[in-house]
Amino acid sequence: MKIVTVVGARPQFIKAAAMSRVLRAAHEEVLVHTGQHHDPQMSDVFFRELHIPRPDYDLGIAGGTHAQMTARMLTAVEDVLLKEKPDALLVYGDTNSTLAGALAAVKLHIPVLHVEAGNRLGTMANPEEVNRILTDHMAAMLFACVPSAMAELAREGLGERAFWVGDPMLDAFRYYSAQTGGKPQGALPGLDGQPVTLPKRFYYLTCHREENTRDDAALSQILLAMEGLPYPTLYPVHPRNRDAALRLRESLGLRHVTLLQPIGYLDSVALVAGAERVVTDSGGVQREAFFAGVPCVTVFDYAVWPETMAGQCNVLATPDAADIARKLTLTPIWPQEGNPFGDGHACEKVVALLDTRF
Ligand code: UDP
Repeated sequence: MKIVTVVGARPQFIKAAAMSRVLRAAHEEVLVHTGQHHDPQMSDVFFRELHIPRPDYDLGIAGGTHAQMTARMLTAVEDVLLKEKPDALLVYGDTNSTLAGALAAVKLHIPVLHVEAGNRLGTMANPEEVNRILTDHMAAMLFACVPSAMAELAREGLGERAFWVGDPMLDAFRYYSAQTGGKPQGALPGLDGQPVTLPKRFYYLTCHREENTRDDAALSQILLAMEGLPYPTLYPVHPRNRDAALRLRESLGLRHVTLLQPIGYLDSVALVAGAERVVTDSGGVQREAFFAGVPCVTVFDYAVWPETMAGQCNVLATPDAADIARKLTLTPIWPQEGNPFGDGHACEKVVALLDTRF
């Protein structure tokens, strides 16, 4: 069958890397890159490093308000679908690219396949929540990473279309970690352009959610918490808060937090696995910490991945230095049996389910 896949943001490139390898063995895939993340460090590095096939269509749509971006993607994806006439459209996660792809397809009666379906925060104030809910309700097949997502889909009356396959991020994590030997590829790229040598012991920080980057208040608390820890922190800075990070490094006089440019996936998973602890607001990074058995503090109000939170392996913190510091001292109890994120073969399960349906 012919499938159009729409991706646009960093975490979607990683999932597509795992899925495309399996999908293309049996089916024809047309890859559309909306352009939501487009620069060399947020896009090109993933295509190169993870050997993702070159996009067949590069729509070059980035920036603007949520509505402007989504609207431009909607019409551009519709043009592709009218030309390609696929049997189905595949989207991942919860970005504006996900929503635009699904909406364009469903109006053309093209079945939508949604990977990473069913995660819920319970608040429409979160921009990604809107995308998740709408995409799930438009989809013909819903592929959930974890049992809690299956339960949410059942609660919303979508249970019959939903399948628990596991998490393609675990597929990617296992496949690519095996290639890195657990070490970054070389010196890390400092935000000022200088190479950074890997410290023996370190913490790993990522932060990019709209909720934590609207103004300097949340990020400054997170940075102050990291500054007070016994080992240095490595922090690849998302383009969204580059200016704020540089400003706060000066005004807070940070000496133990090393700002890096956004790094490639292979380095990122190596740093997750090598860290003493991880502090993040990223959905992907908190799962990777869980996969690697590294304790994590998630600076966010909602448990998007409740399975990671059993035994305090991952704990929520408010953007408050004292709260983050206290949560970083907790001792987790790691679950002994069964991985709620599957067996590292989620992508094979998705493709097998497509074969039964189409
Ligand atoms: N990541 C990366 N480089 C970085 C920071 C993160 O490759 O500088 C990886 C990280 O390991 C994870 C993914 O990007 O695999 C998470 O993406 P992001 O945090 O942008 O999105 P989210 O998961 O929150 O949707």
